[in-house]
Amino acid sequence: MHFKYTPKNPPRLGDGECRSLRVSMSLLLRKSFLHKCSRSWARAKFLLITVALLQFSMGTRVSAASDYRLAIFSADVTIPLNHRCMGVLPTKSKKIVDPLYAHGFVLLGAGKPIVFCAVDWCEIRNGAYDQWRESLGAAAGTSRERVLVSSLHQHDAPVTDSDAAELLEDVGLKGELYDEKFHNETVARVALALKDSLSEAVPVTHLGLGEAAVKRIASNRRVVRDDGGVSFGRGSSSGRNPFYADAPVGLIDSMLKTISFWNGEQAVLAMHSYATHPMSYYGRGGVTSDFVGLAREQRQRDDFSVKQIYFSGCSGDVTAGKYNNGSHDHRLELKERLYEGMVAAWQTTEKVALKEISFRNTPLTLDYYQHENLKRGRLETTLNDESATVEQRILAAMGLASRNRVEKRQQPIDFPCVDLGAAQIVLFPGEAFVGFQLIAQEMRADSFVFSIGYGECWTGYIPTNAVFADKFHDSWLWVNAGAENRIRGALERVLMTNSRTP
Ligand SMILES: [Zn+2]
Repeated sequence: MHFKYTPKNPPRLGDGECRSLRVSMSLLLRKSFLHKCSRSWARAKFLLITVALLQFSMGTRVSAASDYRLAIFSADVTIPLNHRCMGVLPTKSKKIVDPLYAHGFVLLGAGKPIVFCAVDWCEIRNGAYDQWRESLGAAAGTSRERVLVSSLHQHDAPVTDSDAAELLEDVGLKGELYDEKFHNETVARVALALKDSLSEAVPVTHLGLGEAAVKRIASNRRVVRDDGGVSFGRGSSSGRNPFYADAPVGLIDSMLKTISFWNGEQAVLAMHSYATHPMSYYGRGGVTSDFVGLAREQRQRDDFSVKQIYFSGCSGDVTAGKYNNGSHDHRLELKERLYEGMVAAWQTTEKVALKEISFRNTPLTLDYYQHENLKRGRLETTLNDESATVEQRILAAMGLASRNRVEKRQQPIDFPCVDLGAAQIVLFPGEAFVGFQLIAQEMRADSFVFSIGYGECWTGYIPTNAVFADKFHDSWLWVNAGAENRIRGALERVLMTNSRTP
């Protein structure tokens, strides 16, 4: 049990209110004592007791309203034209179909601030991931493990990894993975937006919890072929092939979950999570937040007073492949179905008083994938090979950067959980497969577990034991079999704690 645990603060009067109450109390007392008329000491004592009682009752009442506050921020994170998408796509950005955003919020009043940030990017890895967390953490006045950054994983959007970028620069490929100047400026802009938001933080008194089944979006990559063999070939737009369109849905989590934060009767923010890859089609150079971002923006237009934030859940093995043929019309249909899921989840919302927020983090160590193609020598050869394609060399740099992280720096992954009492929010690394969020829900069947995927993304796919047993392999896989056992352990450390009453 190595988790860092911040015990919740006892309810208390906000500093400002304490001060003003103390001032008015001393003024009242001074007035009573200085009064030269026939007011007796007994009367002053009565006043003293009355004010003390008033302070006690106000303290009890005010504490519920002012313990926790929430500050909302947003910033544009759209990549420039001629920028690499998905790390290794050959077609760079040709046009901006719709802008990319970072949407986030800061929770205040539960010890050091806790930050959530959902980014319309494909992946943020290694040094770049720490750069995001450290910059936002510094802006919020908190430490980096309390900054939960997640990419939504759209593919016409960037992958950033400062360690891989450094390796690429050494072989003359500076800027090929991503534009580092743009990246630094973007992180600074998001951090500034966060900092500016703090002065407009609003009290939060209640949580809203809602969920609804999403229809006809998600399907598992795994299909059983006619010869009985297993394939994980159902990609995002596989629906154009009748075999993939007709194959059973497979393992998914059909529920879209929404946690909302309220200031009394006014909803302030709704955060959604649904487990599916977010692409309808990609690789044509049209930068987009895709159907998930479009659904979020449509939902936002329903009511600008309630901030809408979307996170992708654990969806490494879930795509829209059964229902999507990659056409523009299908993108709009997927957007509509996800939007309907958000509305339906909202309609089921049940409000509960927000009485506690605690934060737990545990280090998660995942082994590097032991595969012939990922041996250090092989990766270095490809990285240096001028006859290889730029995309192959980028992939080698990414593999090497992650290998260095695991073997040389031995830097574990932060595995944080924000416990809201009635709900727990868990941030998973990389492309955790959907089985992981189902495991988390099973562990806390008594509660409302909200899973976010695509935190630290150096791992690529993170299959469960069952998927490794099916001999899953992919060039976007950097973790070894056995990851499930480690993640189960981490989940137990952050989820199965004191918040359960015996
Ligand atoms: Zn993916």
